[in-house]
Amino acid sequence: MIEPAEVNSPQRAWDALMAGNQRFVNAQPAHQRQDIDRRESLSKQQAPFAALFGCSDSRLSAEIIFDVGLGDLFVVRNAGQVLAETIIGSLEYAVEILKVPLILVLGHDECGAIRAGIDAVAGKTTYRGAYIHNLVDRIMPTVLAGNLAGKHKIDEITLLHVEDTINELVSRSELISEAIRDGKLAIAGANYTLTQGEVHQSVIVGSIK
Ligand SMILES: [Zn+2]
Repeated sequence: MIEPAEVNSPQRAWDALMAGNQRFVNAQPAHQRQDIDRRESLSKQQAPFAALFGCSDSRLSAEIIFDVGLGDLFVVRNAGQVLAETIIGSLEYAVEILKVPLILVLGHDECGAIRAGIDAVAGKTTYRGAYIHNLVDRIMPTVLAGNLAGKHKIDEITLLHVEDTINELVSRSELISEAIRDGKLAIAGANYTLTQGEVHQSVIVGSIK
């Protein structure tokens, strides 16, 4: 099993996440680094080996689906994993201060936020709440672009949204694009399947090695 201290490259971070997800899928979680010793050892500092930006969906519990412990993952989530300045700032913090070598952008099938974006484009707005628009309106351009390319299924739009999110993150954050250029960081996009619990990589920006 890979120890977090040994995870110092995008490839090793990816491998550690995939190994943990495999344990979760096989119902053989190790539940490592969730004890009192680990808690106390982290009281003065943290050194997570990856950052995750994912949907808030209650079924996408980051530490559970990757079978990781306290201090392993720097997690940023909102409904539909929609970028915002505070999200970019959090991810820049993970890269610049915490030196994570990998950002994982994680979508999932049957995402309610993506469904809301698809419905909004179709003129069927089914939600109330002034601020929900901040999320849904940001997903609609991906739905429109996907539709123009002949993609209409929610799973196709979800993959596109992950890709668009990564492209936007790289183009808006100079710090993050520089870290990728320097080979210190990679960003992986992936999709989580609710039934099987599997994480499937869909896109990589930067090099994983
Ligand atoms: Zn979702």
